[in-house]
Amino acid sequence: MQLLRGTKDILPDEIILWQYIEKTAAKIMKLANYHEIRTPIIESTSLFKRSIGNGTDIVNKEMYNFIDQNSREITLRPEGTASVARAFINSKLYKNNTTKRLWYLGPMFRYERPQQGRQRQFHQLGIECIGSLNPIADAEVIRIAHKLLDELECSDYIMEINSIGHLRERNKYKQSFIEYLEPYIKDLDNNSRNKLYTNPLKILDSKNTKTQEIIHNGPCLYDYLETPSKKHFEKVCEYLEFLNIKYNINKQLVRGLDYYNYTAFEIKTNSLGTQDTICGGGRYDSLIEDLGGPNIPSVGWAIGIERLLITIKNELEKKIEKNKPLVYLAVDGQNTEKEILNIIQILEKKNISYNLDLDNNSLQKQLKKADKQGAKACVILRDYEVKNNCITLKQLSTSEQKQFSTLNLDDLIQTLENISSKL
Ligand code: ATP
Ligand code: MG
Repeated sequence: MQLLRGTKDILPDEIILWQYIEKTAAKIMKLANYHEIRTPIIESTSLFKRSIGNGTDIVNKEMYNFIDQNSREITLRPEGTASVARAFINSKLYKNNTTKRLWYLGPMFRYERPQQGRQRQFHQLGIECIGSLNPIADAEVIRIAHKLLDELECSDYIMEINSIGHLRERNKYKQSFIEYLEPYIKDLDNNSRNKLYTNPLKILDSKNTKTQEIIHNGPCLYDYLETPSKKHFEKVCEYLEFLNIKYNINKQLVRGLDYYNYTAFEIKTNSLGTQDTICGGGRYDSLIEDLGGPNIPSVGWAIGIERLLITIKNELEKKIEKNKPLVYLAVDGQNTEKEILNIIQILEKKNISYNLDLDNNSLQKQLKKADKQGAKACVILRDYEVKNNCITLKQLSTSEQKQFSTLNLDDLIQTLENISSKL
């Protein structure tokens, strides 16, 4: 049986990196009063059509949709924000009128062409700061992304930021932009031509040089912004400067989802080639109202964990210790089972990690395996030990061997705890 295209198993050697990222994120979130939320992986298709938008690539081409046994249209979530907004409304998390800070981590699904950094099932870690229009909230979420990347020793990145203004301003711009592009329609790349009337802003994102040349001489979205939008953006930039967070203003930056307004940003690394964006985010002040909730402004981002891992994997691997058992339990004999089960219960109580050999190999082979797995000590239990009410402990670094009475295992445990504390 083959894996589905665009999906991956995350095996134990890699899981320790994931756990490290999760632990680091959870620590930062807790400090900043962000609370974890877990929403279902399946949602009504209409949730994503209404929030992400009908003209977007995600809704048009990338959604995993199916009809369930009761003829409901269901989608495997392509992103997290729409689900969080839905949960926020359903559970009335706005009840006590304070800013709600939420974070999530989980699998997302998009039917895309799989390649390095692009999968059909991938994972996003995201945060949402719900309830504030203040530019300090934008600076807060951006600061947290930077803090997380710094703690993960990811340094080879730059943030690009833009203001895409209010819907009214964007609509005015869209009109002028379409009028400007129409005479060039034949010179645009295919993809951009198809988006001219459905999602013209995404043309700004085109990688085609000819299209970019045409755009270069056209109208600029920023010039269509009114004073409040510009002021908001200037404040965000001012706070980022105060926080010493480097950024580039990219006036062509737009996001692939319809619900954003004002601030839009992406964090890009140099080490990923084409799939270089590890984090995307921005403000979405009308999403909650559009989905039937109260008028509550929000700002957030999502980091693609697989892409992040490509950039930090090597450094992280050096830093993180593999899970190694402290003690290897080598058994060889007929009547050893009950004694070893007894020892295991004591080890567990004392938080000492162990690995019980179940392969019935010779003692010599078991000792070799213990060494290979990086265990520090090996408990040896043969018929000899059972007969003499004792247990043999071999320290693998020194090969020193010592016997302990099984009538009172305190000395053995003390020795193991001493070994453990030296690690
Ligand atoms: P891209 O332009 O690369 O398609 P996007 O704008 O569609 O990205 P967002 O919807 O903003 O991406 O998602 C936020 C982050 O999630 C991205 O920056 C990326 O790190 C990650 N991501 C998005 N799609 C995928 C995918 N198919 N495989 C792996 N990671 C992804
Ligand atoms: Mg995409």
